[in-house]
Amino acid sequence: MSAEDPTNKFREAVLKDAPRLKQTDAFQFGCHPGVSCFNQCCADVNIFLTPYDVIRMKNRLGIPSNEFLDKYTIIPFTKEQRLPVVVLKMRDETDKRCPFVTESGCGIYEDRPWACRMYPLGMASPGDYEQGAEEFFFLIEEEGCKGFQEQRTQTVAEWLADQGIAVYNEMGDPFRKFTTHPKMQGDVELTLAQMDMVHMTCYDVDRFRRFVFESTLLEKLDIAADRAEAMRDDDVELMKFAMDWLRFSLCREPTLPIKQEFRQKKEQDLAGVIAARRDAALKQKQEKGKSG
Ligand code: SF4
Ligand code: SF4
Repeated sequence: MSAEDPTNKFREAVLKDAPRLKQTDAFQFGCHPGVSCFNQCCADVNIFLTPYDVIRMKNRLGIPSNEFLDKYTIIPFTKEQRLPVVVLKMRDETDKRCPFVTESGCGIYEDRPWACRMYPLGMASPGDYEQGAEEFFFLIEEEGCKGFQEQRTQTVAEWLADQGIAVYNEMGDPFRKFTTHPKMQGDVELTLAQMDMVHMTCYDVDRFRRFVFESTLLEKLDIAADRAEAMRDDDVELMKFAMDWLRFSLCREPTLPIKQEFRQKKEQDLAGVIAARRDAALKQKQEKGKSG
């Protein structure tokens, strides 16, 4: 089994070398408890999690987001990966199985992450962020996976439908837009405070809820009352706002409207600062003239 890897290096290799599949293309693959490799892929694997994955999994387990993140995730920083995206943590150094695998398969099957659903397919988009060019699919053949020897054949579209991918793609799209934004690519250097903010906003939904409702943030933004109300109880609604907030605050995209009165006050404050600086400079000049 493999996972979505948001690093540039992986994406570039896929765009360059991977044979591309369309939704209507068929591929031969089958996975069921009868295969000799059953469960082998649920060990020693890098599974990047999306914010939606974390919500589904922590709600399935009935635990707070910070407990889920502490127990079940790690943040793998590399040269290429500078955003604090999280990866599913395997059990421990000697038992490298996924914490959710059981004798009979995935113990959280209905809420398993996007990457587990997709395998053996990967998905990539060749276009610029703005253009949103067409995505394509490619096959990932993990060593030891006997699924490719099974006689079952299906189209990409059939596989995606069977795995319930549509809602995961829809919910993962704002996260993808954030992580692939040009401002988050290349030599991006986030401060520690920004890293913490990104991690909280993407994954720690309970802490982000406190940040939103216990600060003056919503006083400054023009958010419809029913949307704000939904965000209080609904993790998915809050996640959608969270992605808008990251794109607004870090990527400088107009994803959230600022309240008119706050905008005016900001403009007045700015005008006040400029006027005060101008007066101070003028006064200094006049005093210099007197003493000269
Ligand atoms: S979450 Fe489920 S499908 Fe994914 S690696 Fe763990 S046990 Fe396997
Ligand atoms: S066939 Fe592949 S995906 Fe299925 S259990 Fe075996 S290794 Fe995992």
